[in-house]
Amino acid sequence: MNVLLLFVDGMGIGRDDPAINPFISARIPVFRRLFGDAGMIPCDTVSRSDGFVGVPVDATMGFPGIPQSATGQTALLTGENTVAIEGRHVSGHPTPGLKDLLKRRCIFRIAREAGKTVTFINAYKDESFKMMEDGTYPASVSTVAALSASIPLRTVVDLRERRAVYHDITSRTLKDRGCSLETVSPEEAGGIAASVAAGYDLSMFEFFLTDKVGHRQDMAGARNMLARLDAFLGGVLRNVAGAGGDLCMVIASDHGNVEDLSTPEHTRNPVPALFVGLPAGALAEKISGMKSIMDVPRAILEIIGVRDDRPE
Ligand SMILES: [Zn+2]
Repeated sequence: MNVLLLFVDGMGIGRDDPAINPFISARIPVFRRLFGDAGMIPCDTVSRSDGFVGVPVDATMGFPGIPQSATGQTALLTGENTVAIEGRHVSGHPTPGLKDLLKRRCIFRIAREAGKTVTFINAYKDESFKMMEDGTYPASVSTVAALSASIPLRTVVDLRERRAVYHDITSRTLKDRGCSLETVSPEEAGGIAASVAAGYDLSMFEFFLTDKVGHRQDMAGARNMLARLDAFLGGVLRNVAGAGGDLCMVIASDHGNVEDLSTPEHTRNPVPALFVGLPAGALAEKISGMKSIMDVPRAILEIIGVRDDRPE
């Protein structure tokens, strides 16, 4: 079956405390439908229902300190203990070592070499392509992963033709910067993501504004951002069901942040690994045994029918 990986930056599983955790008070009916009143799976139990498995997984990779984006995201896409490799949690953009690891071990590349089709749903603005040409573009883990697997990056033209989603989901920030295009509702954007994903074995959409708003410790902004994400999920899920059981949505994060606004830093909280649309039985059972963000890529490859030959 096809997988749509929804990578949400900086979304951990926090405490049931409305003073610091925006999940408690945000308008997130889709999250609540999946997880119950808390809007998020409890941090110490596996949630299961028909076609759905939610597992809290460790994002620290067994090391002290605060988990960071470059090591966390590279671990999510390669399954490797990137903190052990780098000797520290690495923030921001990938180091040369992490870039090399992405080139060799990213699930995009492994899936493509196994004959699967892979795409990255995020669109890049025109300036980004100019900066890539002159070498000044600060490439994120996802960009490096896509380029090193020779996945064409989507453009503003794709946005206009509803074959891509901008990183803010609605394209509002792009329109406000003078780009000529129509905004979309979060629900519409979810539908676009799902329809693109239906045509590929593996696709990914990256949403990083949860991390940005977490760093700002902005409760109202965080509630808005979660509501936007929730509506997007609703749009995807309507189409997951409509895809005839052939599309599994995986929601994963690199580290905690937005779930605890008492700190401007990331957190050491577990993060959710959520699988929606999964067939019942042995596969769902196996996924419920996941422990770490490093286990997520192997599970994704398994769902799309690719064997990862690394030793257990
Ligand atoms: Zn961050």
